[in-house]
Amino acid sequence: MSRKKIIAGNWKMNKTPSEAVELVNTLKPLVQNPDVDVVYCVPAIDIIPVKKALEGSNVHLGAENVYFEDKGAYTGEISPAMLKDAGVEYVIIGHSERRQYFAETDQTVNKKLLKLLENGFRPIVCCGETLEQREAGITMDWIRMQIKIAFHGVSAEEAKGVVIAYEPIWAIGTGKTATAAQAEEVCRGIRETIADLYGTDTAEAVRIQYGGSMNAGNCKELLAQPDIDGGLIGGAALKPDFGTIVNYNK
Ligand code: PEP
Repeated sequence: MSRKKIIAGNWKMNKTPSEAVELVNTLKPLVQNPDVDVVYCVPAIDIIPVKKALEGSNVHLGAENVYFEDKGAYTGEISPAMLKDAGVEYVIIGHSERRQYFAETDQTVNKKLLKLLENGFRPIVCCGETLEQREAGITMDWIRMQIKIAFHGVSAEEAKGVVIAYEPIWAIGTGKTATAAQAEEVCRGIRETIADLYGTDTAEAVRIQYGGSMNAGNCKELLAQPDIDGGLIGGAALKPDFGTIVNYNK
């Protein structure tokens, strides 16, 4: 099965609304590749101006987080309906920075995944191991557990539309990329986990990204791996380099 590549930028806590519009306009001519789904996951306050700036472009809009309740007394949170109304399609959940600094857990990721699917979003579910876990030889056990908890209660049909981002924590924002072989090994393991849960049809449909210091120099080799269907890009998403990654096959 051929899966369309998906290259998503995770802007993290960068760019004010006016800077965000400027970045969209700078990148616009650089990110046109019909072979790739391109997504910008932007800070909540940038969603509305970025949506407007993206009009007529091939880029899909994403958010970096969502809350798992529909509405109510949850000061500071953003609901699925708010994101929907603002034109968001993709939502990152379970990013390691949210787990580390904001107490995100596999259980809250599961609640968010179910809520996003109920509301017709395309979730991007992040998973990844620490350096200690890698060195202890438990990478795949850890990732399997993260995936199994995240997908609890998700149907096979729903699972097909979920994007999984494998992001080794030691590679995020460090300039230390996993080798193509290391990234492929875990992405293949994730696909096998999905096959165990749902069967091979679903496993073959699910798109799995690699994330962790992917850049213009290393993207080609990573994206050539059979089980790596795209990238989740942090630092390089804020630069013209993002265009080189989107056009990795040119
Ligand atoms: C990320 O934040 O998802 C990420 C992969 O960051 P970076 O590309 O900067 O390592």
